[in-house]
Amino acid sequence: MKRGGAGTTQNTFDAIATGAGISGGWAAKELTEKGLRPSLPERGRDVKHGTTPRR
Ligand SMILES: Cc1cc2nc3c(=O)[nH]c(=O)nc-3n(C[C@H](O)[C@H](O)[C@H](O)COP(=O)(O)OP(=O)(O)OC[C@H]3O[C@@H](n4cnc5c(N)ncnc54)[C@H](O)[C@@H]3O)c2cc1C
Repeated sequence: MKRGGAGTTQNTFDAIATGAGISGGWAAKELTEKGLRPSLPERGRDVKHGTTPRR
């Protein structure tokens, strides 16, 4: 994240992988491992760690 001037905040990314399904999640993982900064927007509900259903 880069901070702009005059109270503005800018987020900068190298790539956008839309949707945190298996395809988008894997793409973001691969890009991150290569040192890039991907954005991974997801339209679904926010799922907190430890709140997924368990059997
Ligand atoms: C009922 C069912 C059972 C299945 N069972 C199996 C199985 O047993 N084994 C198997 O290998 N495969 C199975 N599949 C197939 C598997 O689910 C898909 O092949 C796989 O999930 C596809 O991955 P994906 O990342 O392309 O899409 P998805 O997993 O569908 O992920 C897409 C993501 O993008 C998000 N999204 C969509 N549009 C936007 C937008 N405009 N902005 C932001 N986010 C967005 C969605 O919320 C979602 O999280 C099954 C599919 C179904 C429907």
